[in-house]
Amino acid sequence: MALIVQKYGGTSVKNTERITEVAKKIVDLKRAGNQIVVVLSAQGGRTDKLIAKAMKITKNPPKRELDALLATGEQISIALFAMAVHSLGENVISLNATQLGIRTSNDFNSAQILDINKEKIEQELESGKIVVVAGFQGIDNEGNITTLGRGGSDTSAVAIGIAIDADEIEIYTDVDGIYSADPRVVKNAKKWDEVSYSEMIEMAGNGAKVLHTRSVELACKYNKEIKLRSSYTWKEGSIVKGEDSMESQVIRGISHSKNLAKLTLKNTQYRLANIINAFSKVGINIDMITHNVDSKNSFTISCILKNEDSEKALEIAKKEFFDKTENIELLNNLGKVSIIGLGVKSRGVAGKVFDILFENNILIELVSSSEINISCVIKEEKLIEAVQVLHKSLIEEEVINEKIN
Ligand code: ADP
Ligand code: ASP
Ligand code: MG
Repeated sequence: MALIVQKYGGTSVKNTERITEVAKKIVDLKRAGNQIVVVLSAQGGRTDKLIAKAMKITKNPPKRELDALLATGEQISIALFAMAVHSLGENVISLNATQLGIRTSNDFNSAQILDINKEKIEQELESGKIVVVAGFQGIDNEGNITTLGRGGSDTSAVAIGIAIDADEIEIYTDVDGIYSADPRVVKNAKKWDEVSYSEMIEMAGNGAKVLHTRSVELACKYNKEIKLRSSYTWKEGSIVKGEDSMESQVIRGISHSKNLAKLTLKNTQYRLANIINAFSKVGINIDMITHNVDSKNSFTISCILKNEDSEKALEIAKKEFFDKTENIELLNNLGKVSIIGLGVKSRGVAGKVFDILFENNILIELVSSSEINISCVIKEEKLIEAVQVLHKSLIEEEVINEKIN
């Protein structure tokens, strides 16, 4: 008998047929002698529709109320799913975050899980039930409904798996594994059997939404493997795990993210900290920064931030920093392509990346690199082309991508 947590994303439960198919699989697994916790997302497209509904009422909904609205998507999924399991003759209970006791911080729209009432889950499992939990949501200390941020059901599943010390944590989605790039963008993307935590954190953090970044961070912290599989093919998928026991690749993946902007303050007398603090006070996060000092001790600072925050950031920069700044410039509609792998620094991948982009007339606006990540900000209109040409040269033609021993 194994204790198993399985999470199903939006497309996996998008309609009655899918709910029934997944419910049958779960019932079979239970009847084979396992204890099962199922974590569900809202049905495909539901969360987007709820956001659109809120936006029709106001462009700036209170975050608390938005969370209360968005959490209803997962509530629908768990109730329908529990009905499907019940109709197949198994004992089942659906639990939302309030009923279960998933306690989070009070950061509406991006809450952190603090604690899960594992005794409640264990009691229900002991009484022979399949436990169906609403992903993505929590409650804060005052009982307010919170959500974990878009894609957060993965994090709910991993947190539950850790809390009850599950034997398996499986995330079911609409692709059959983790690929070297989004398979919807690169048709020859390569499926990996294993990906390390650190590579997956970088891939997810730079746009590979196949796993929520925090779910991988949590799994890494508690050294729990995540299995990523398809609920369409049910084939063996990919495993995210510690890197010591796996073959490493120089490059594991190429991720991309859109909707970025670059704000530049030229020849400013203000320090980086002034600027970052002014933005963070109003909730604007900076993704990347460059900071140059000239011989007269004045700085040129460029920040990469979300397109949606850019007008507000420009307004703040003009209001707070114009007096001692030569020029403030905003460039919208940028994207970022990130080359990720344990060998990108030591194997000199950067030069090759810059060459490939240059040969394809793709201008780099800003670069950052770390041990395992080279990220280039470019025009959004060139983003897909950049992912495809980089993937072709660096991964498909295996110029650099031999294994690291
Ligand atoms: P779910 O609704 O099941 O949570 P998501 O849409 O959040 O599913 O994530 C699955 C999607 O992630 C896939 O359809 C795929 O397009 C995308 N994706 C992006 N990068 C990758 C990658 N490197 N490997 C696999 N899938 C990826
Ligand atoms: N339903 C939420 C979303 O669409 C959470 C999730 O799918 O994981 O972002
Ligand atoms: Mg997801």
